[in-house]
Amino acid sequence: MSSHCLSRFCYCPCCGSDQFSVLDDRSKRCAECGFVFYLNASAATVALIRNPKGELLVVRRARHPGKGLLTLPGGFVDHGESIEEGCLREVREEVGVSGRIVRFLFSLPNRYPFSDFVVPTVDSFFEVAIDNPAAIVAGDDAEAAFWVAPEDLPLSSFAMSSVREGLARWLEEQRRKTNTSSVLTSS
Ligand SMILES: [Zn+2]
Repeated sequence: MSSHCLSRFCYCPCCGSDQFSVLDDRSKRCAECGFVFYLNASAATVALIRNPKGELLVVRRARHPGKGLLTLPGGFVDHGESIEEGCLREVREEVGVSGRIVRFLFSLPNRYPFSDFVVPTVDSFFEVAIDNPAAIVAGDDAEAAFWVAPEDLPLSSFAMSSVREGLARWLEEQRRKTNTSSVLTSS
């Protein structure tokens, strides 16, 4: 049985009482002061960006978790931001270019290990268009940013399970589209 998501929170963050007990699978309640804390899923984003050749923009992570492994531009949504704003901000910070949302694809739950703690997230995947693919530059949490042909994507080298799953799903959708258009062209 896995431990409770707040098992490392031993004391009430308001009054310091050790009577901070499990209320349900994602919350604890303080028996002294009544404070209740819920660990809800944090909103996060993933951007799929292609250049005119159809290649996908991939980032090598500069920091843990998954330092040296691959990911796509994206990250946590800040307080007060919409998911779309958060996605485009992360694109600017990580690869140095402005973009616009083309379409929302799907969302996937993920678990993000950070500071000996697992943050539950829900990752929203977007197709994002950028004006100047030649201007990309690795910034912030990125060690490098580069283009990879979809058929050459090394899925096992991606750090996050939700990104691996999301890419597999997106690739399958691209294959179906290609098959449909070739059927249409040949008929
Ligand atoms: Zn308390």
